Amino acid sequence: MYDTIIIGAGTAGMTAAIYLRRAGKKVLIFERENTGGQIVYSPKIENYPAIASIGGADYAMRLFGQAENQGAQFEFDEILSIKKEEAKGEKTFFALSGSKTYEAKSIIIASGVKHRRLGLEHENKFSGAGLSYCAVCDGAFFKGKTVAVVGGGSTALTDALFLSNTSKKVYLIHRRDGFRGERRLVESLKEKENVEFVMNSEIKELIGGETLSAVKVFDKKTAQESVITLQGLFVAIGFLPANAAFKDIVALDGDGYIEAREDCKTSEAGIFTAGDCRTKEVRQLATAAADGAVAALAACKYLA
Ligand code: NAP
Repeated sequence: MYDTIIIGAGTAGMTAAIYLRRAGKKVLIFERENTGGQIVYSPKIENYPAIASIGGADYAMRLFGQAENQGAQFEFDEILSIKKEEAKGEKTFFALSGSKTYEAKSIIIASGVKHRRLGLEHENKFSGAGLSYCAVCDGAFFKGKTVAVVGGGSTALTDALFLSNTSKKVYLIHRRDGFRGERRLVESLKEKENVEFVMNSEIKELIGGETLSAVKVFDKKTAQESVITLQGLFVAIGFLPANAAFKDIVALDGDGYIEAREDCKTSEAGIFTAGDCRTKEVRQLATAAADGAVAALAACKYLA
C-alpha cells in the first residue's frame, strides 16, 4: 500500500514525488514512455528560474536523479484505469495496469499531453518516413535537406530555428498571418536566410511513395494551391490531453483535460492532478513544477 501513486514522470509528477518523499510518504511513480515528459525534446530551456540555460534532456535527467535520491520508486508501466473502494470512511485506490494492480491511499494524475496530429490521410504511414513530431529527436536525419515545420506556437518556432542550423532550407507553414509563439523567436527566424515563412496556409495533402516527398499547401488569402517539395515535415501544432483512462473516476472538461483549479483537487477526494493534463491557463515548465508542489502538499493534507 503506497501513500501516493503518481501517474506520469514529467516535471509535475517528479516535483510532486520530491515533495511527498520529503514529507516521509511512500511514493510510486508510473511512466509509460520516458521520464521527463515533453521537455526532454526541448533543445534549450532559458525561462526556468535560476537556470540561465539548460538542455531539456539534461534538465529531465537532473530532476529524475533528484526524485530517485529522495527515495521515490519508479515503475515503467501504463495505468489503464483507477478504481476505488471505501470501507469505514477510508478510501483505497487501485491503479490497474495491463497485468498488475497497485494500491494507494491517494493518487496524483500528472499524465501530461500528447502531440496533436494534422488529421491528414497517410499521416500514420509517413510517420517515421519523413514526418516527425520531434525536431530534436529526428532533425539530424535531415542534415543538408529541405524540410518544413508546421505550426505557429513557440514549439514550431523553436523547431524551425533548430532545423535551420543543419537543414538546407526550412519552410515554416502556418495557418494564420501572425504567430502565437514568442516574438523573440520570430525575430531570430527572420534573420535566417534559409528560412521561408509560408503564412495563411494549410497543408491539404501529404505526397510521397515509401517516404514523404512533398506537401500540397492551400493559401487561404489567394485561394491558390501549391506543392512544396521536401524530405522532412515536422508537425508542431500543439498538444492534446490523454486522460481517457481516468474519465470514469474524475471529471474531464469538453477537451479532455482533468477539471481542477489552482488547488489541484479533482472531482474525486483523494485524487489530485498536476501539470499540463489539467484545466489551466498557462502550460509551462514553471507552472508544472508549481502544480507538482501544490498537488503533493494537498495530498499530504488529505493523508494526515
Ligand atoms: P501552441 O502554443 O498551442 O501552438 C500550436 C500552434 O499550432 C498554433 O499556432 C496553432 O495555430 C497551430 N495549430 C493547431 N492546430 C492546428 C492544425 N490542425 N493545423 C495547423 N496548425 C494548427 O503549442 P506549442 O507551440 O507546442 O506550445 C505549447 C506550450 O509550450 C505553450 O505554452 C508555449 O508557450 C510553450 N513553449 C515554450 C517554449 C519556450 O521556449 N519558452 C518552447 C516551446 C513551447 P493558431 O495559432 O492559429 O491557433
